[in-house]
Amino acid sequence: MSIRGSVLPVFSRSSRTSRIRFCTLGLEDVRTDDVGNVFGVCPDHARQMTKQAPAKQYTALSAHLDTVFPAGTPLNLRQHGSRLYGPGVSDNGAGAAALLAVAAALRAAKIALATPLLFIGNVGEEGEGDLRGMRHIFSQPKWKDSIRHSLILDGAGSDTIVAEALGSRRFEIIVRGPGGHSWSDFGMPNPILVLAHAIHTFSQTVLPTSPKTTFNVGVIRGGTSVNSIPESASMRVDIRSTSMAEMERLEASLRFAVEQAVEAESRSSERRSPSQKRSSGLTYEVVPIGNRPAGELDSNARILKVIRAVDAHLGNAAQIQRASTDANIPLSLGREAIAIGGGGVGGGAHTLQEWFDCTGRDLGLKRILLTLLALAGVAE
Ligand SMILES: [Zn+2]
Repeated sequence: MSIRGSVLPVFSRSSRTSRIRFCTLGLEDVRTDDVGNVFGVCPDHARQMTKQAPAKQYTALSAHLDTVFPAGTPLNLRQHGSRLYGPGVSDNGAGAAALLAVAAALRAAKIALATPLLFIGNVGEEGEGDLRGMRHIFSQPKWKDSIRHSLILDGAGSDTIVAEALGSRRFEIIVRGPGGHSWSDFGMPNPILVLAHAIHTFSQTVLPTSPKTTFNVGVIRGGTSVNSIPESASMRVDIRSTSMAEMERLEASLRFAVEQAVEAESRSSERRSPSQKRSSGLTYEVVPIGNRPAGELDSNARILKVIRAVDAHLGNAAQIQRASTDANIPLSLGREAIAIGGGGVGGGAHTLQEWFDCTGRDLGLKRILLTLLALAGVAE
C-alpha cells in the first residue's frame, strides 16, 4: 500500500486546530481534556466502545503538539525543494503530520480494526512542560486502565525505536541569609559559600556507569555586588538516569549536601565573628522544577516484537535508543510504549533553523501504519 502524501499543513498546532483536523478526518468521540490534550477514536470503534469497554484494549497513537519555542516566535516558514524550514517543523510537525496521515490512510482504505485505535494530540512534552499532557492522560482511570499499547510519534526519521526512558529530576536550590556589608558585617553567613560547599560535596557522589547516571549544575545566580554579603543565591541542578533508584539516591545526596553546607556555613560564620549579634540565620529551599520518570521496555514486549517485524518486512534498519519522550510516562508505569519518528529526515531540532525533508517519508508512514495494524489487529 502506498501512503505517500504531501506534507500536511499542521503548523498551527493548537489543540483547537487538532480538534478540527480530527473531526475532518472522520474520527469520532473527538474531545479535548482539562489540560488541552485532544482525543479521537477510529470511527468503527467509537460506537462499539460505548456498548462494551474491555479493559486495556486501546492502541494509542500520539504526537505532542507543543514546541520548545515561546508563544509569539515568528514561524517564518519556507520551502526549498523537498525541504521545509521553520521552528517546530520537525519536532513535532513531522510527528503530528504523520499522525494525521495515518488517520487519513485508514479512512481511505476503509480498514476495520479488531480493537480500538485512539488518536491523541497531546500538550506539554517539551522542557518545562515536563510531560504534563501524557502525565495527565495516564492519571485518568479512563485511559490509564484502557490503553494497552502506546505508539508515540516524535520528530522525523524512521531509524530509531525509543524503548528506554531516560528519567530526570531537576531542582532549584535557593539559600537566603541576612546579607550585609562585606567589611562591617563580616561574619554574617554567606549563601554563595553555602552553594559552593554544597556543590563540592554533591559532586563527590560516586555514580554508577551502568545504569548510566549523571548530574549537572547548570545555572548559578546570586549576590548584588563585590562588597555585599549576598542575601540570596540559587542554583539549578539536573539529575538523570535510566534507574529510578539511582535518581532517588542522587536526589538524597543533593539534599544532604545542601543541608550539611547550611550547617557548616552557620558554624563558620560564628567562628568568623563570634561576638557579632546576628539578626537571622540561613534558610534554604529545594524546589523541584522537573520530574520525568525513568523506565525500560521489557525485551519480550509485544510492541517491540511488532516494530522489529515491521522493520524486517520493510528492510529498515533501526536502533534501540534511550531518550526522554512522552513514552517515559507509560514505560514508568510498566506499560508497553515506544517512540518513533514520523518519517522523512529532520535537523536543527530546538533551533530557529530547524528543517524537515519529506524525501523517503513513505517508509516512515508505512512503518507506523503497519505497526498499528499489527497491534490493533484487523477485523475479520
Ligand atoms: Zn519532540
